[in-house]
Amino acid sequence: MICGGIDVGGTKIEARLFEGEGFAPGAGQRWATPQDSYEAFLAQIADAVRWLGTQAGDTRLPVGLALAGPVDGEGGVSHAVNTVARGHSVGRDLSRQVGRHTPLINDCVAFTLSEATGGAADGARSVVGITFGTGLGAGHVVDGALAVRFGGHGAEIGHAGLSARLRDRHDLPDLPCGCGRRMCLEAYLSAGGLATLLRHRTGRNAPLEAIADDPLAEPALSIWFEIVAEALGLVYLALAPDVIVLGGGLSQMSGFSERTRAALSPLALPPLPLPEIALARFGGASGARGAAIHAWGARDD
Ligand SMILES: [Zn+2]
Repeated sequence: MICGGIDVGGTKIEARLFEGEGFAPGAGQRWATPQDSYEAFLAQIADAVRWLGTQAGDTRLPVGLALAGPVDGEGGVSHAVNTVARGHSVGRDLSRQVGRHTPLINDCVAFTLSEATGGAADGARSVVGITFGTGLGAGHVVDGALAVRFGGHGAEIGHAGLSARLRDRHDLPDLPCGCGRRMCLEAYLSAGGLATLLRHRTGRNAPLEAIADDPLAEPALSIWFEIVAEALGLVYLALAPDVIVLGGGLSQMSGFSERTRAALSPLALPPLPLPEIALARFGGASGARGAAIHAWGARDD
């Protein structure tokens, strides 16, 4: 079997083929995400669908789409802020343009489905995936299928508020969030949030790539991991998953899963067991892979 997945992010569109029972990553291609018009944005995704068909030698292969930001309902209306797709039914419009159904899901949900299917959480019954990158997103998969969620949304834990106990303990700054509110977890846990926290706490503007190995960044980083644990603690209390899989660019920093596990430990509420914490197995390909798995499950033949 062969199927395709397309991960549509704010800056790049990545298409990849996935083959065999294990959905092993095959040939892939990247394009810049058109920023000037919705028509150009849609045309580029349609080109990516055709590229996958040509590569696979099968123009009818199942292709799924993973889209950043909230994605609503069957028509796949995007509610992502700061993109030309906002307010458009991307799923419906793309299906019209390529002449067939291209199932669409939120990119964090796709990430979670990928990691629950032959990935870091393979075999676990309840899996939550959390991505730490330009934003903070999450998805929930139960028994290998997308958890039923109102409107098909991901788990928007990034817009839960920072707790007063953490704010008071560390005298944290009041940061604005892209959603228009203040002190959302995403405002602290995104890459921009970590950079702000580093500046606020240490006065440094160091690159985030080497932050885990920079002793001068440690006062900011140890607080940041307490906030990470708070986001995971929310998931632990509300959903009690077996496994939480961590992904996104920031999860590449050395010691990420160990530090997250250590910070989460004091938040345990016996007898509720803490979930297993794992790093993503398919890394940056997991969004496209999850979209492909979703499309494979939704095919009608
Ligand atoms: Zn917010």
